[in-house]
Amino acid sequence: MNGGKNCPRCHEDIGVWAIPLGSYINHLHCPHCDLGIYYENGFIISLLKFTLVVLGLVLLYWIDHWLDWPLEGIGLGMFLLGWVFLEWFIAQVLRETSNLRVRH
Ligand SMILES: [Zn+2]
Repeated sequence: MNGGKNCPRCHEDIGVWAIPLGSYINHLHCPHCDLGIYYENGFIISLLKFTLVVLGLVLLYWIDHWLDWPLEGIGLGMFLLGWVFLEWFIAQVLRETSNLRVRH
């Protein structure tokens, strides 16, 4: 069992930031040996993540459209910060709870 951290081929830790880039379509690559990998049950996580990002955009639009937002761009900044946190958080969840598999 490799768990969610180590590449099934080279056994190196794939790190946190290899995950956000590929996890929308559950199509990751090991940054060390470039092996194509994916997470078990990654589809649900990808769907959840995509939904949260869309909800964030809707909320941002709503805030921007309906509230008299005092500072230009602060909503976008908060959204981007929230997005980065979401990516990091989901990467941690995947690393701790899922398993990496070789993509064929
Ligand atoms: Zn590898």
